[in-house]
Amino acid sequence: MSEFYLRQASVPSLGAEALARLRAATVVVAGVGGVGSSAAYHLTRSGVGRIRLIDQDIIEPSNLQRIHSATRDDLFHPKAEVLSQRLSEFDRSSQIESVVDTITQTNADSLLSDATLVLDGLDNFRTRYILNRFSIRTKTAYLFASAVAQQGHLALLHPPNTPCLECIMPHIADRREESCETLGVTPTITGTIGAMTADAAVQFISNGGTRLTEHLMTLDLSGPSVILSKVHKRKDCTACGDAAKQDHKPEAFPSVTLLCGERTANAVPPTPLTVQLSRVQAAMSAEHILASSESVLVFRKGVHTISLFRNGRVLIGNVDEETEASRIVGEIWQNLAKTGYTDIIPLNHVS
Ligand SMILES: [Zn+2]
Repeated sequence: MSEFYLRQASVPSLGAEALARLRAATVVVAGVGGVGSSAAYHLTRSGVGRIRLIDQDIIEPSNLQRIHSATRDDLFHPKAEVLSQRLSEFDRSSQIESVVDTITQTNADSLLSDATLVLDGLDNFRTRYILNRFSIRTKTAYLFASAVAQQGHLALLHPPNTPCLECIMPHIADRREESCETLGVTPTITGTIGAMTADAAVQFISNGGTRLTEHLMTLDLSGPSVILSKVHKRKDCTACGDAAKQDHKPEAFPSVTLLCGERTANAVPPTPLTVQLSRVQAAMSAEHILASSESVLVFRKGVHTISLFRNGRVLIGNVDEETEASRIVGEIWQNLAKTGYTDIIPLNHVS
């Protein structure tokens, strides 16, 4: 046994057998902001053998306060890549993978299908419902987590043995007035919820369920107080109940969505592109460039911060309307097509 995990394996319920299960497990962390980065840190230290970090976003100045392990040098770099590099430095026999992309109905199966458990570090219900449907369809455990202001929630969902997310939180629309931007969020709540989420994952993989498989936990650090509310399966749940339909239709395009509470829009091209980022960068004035790597080029365009990813996806910062975001991304894709810096031209998306 590696010396790294000796103290943990001395805990009676987490001995050598439990550690072997953890080393053989794959945990997917979907979203590595405050909660996901803290969870990923603790999963690594707990001996999980393979961790896949998925996040579509870059690190912005207002994120640094709560992203575990990130520093100022990481500004404008993809969250998933920064975290995977940092966490890989701990135990080189662990596999820490990064995926810089948006989770969609179309790619969920390929990104999640080998997961022992999917851990939710997200900030929106649109993507959480995609994870929930995946969990129901494949019987994969889904660890729901959220944090805003000083309050966090946690539940370990493993349908059909437990309720699903839509049994307990159906039809939730993402609203700016309930987001971190409006209500704020502390590094202590994201860090604590992340650590508790990692602990629930470790206990599930080592020994099966915990009380979190039957309860939704609410932690309020302002008290502090912890409430465990019993959760129930709903027969009429539209996701896992009698009348459920497991739709697995591809998304309609064009797909430009405002990220909840961030004044940032995410634009996914109808077909993945291969953008030659180094050529785009070479044609650009150096003073506009904020960061560049193999997977993303981040630059200023007027008042906007633009992150252009290798697969053609674009994040547009400082934007309030989807129509404005569509106009900007249309211009970017059109320019790429004109200059030949990409190998597929999504003209049907530009008009
Ligand atoms: Zn359900």
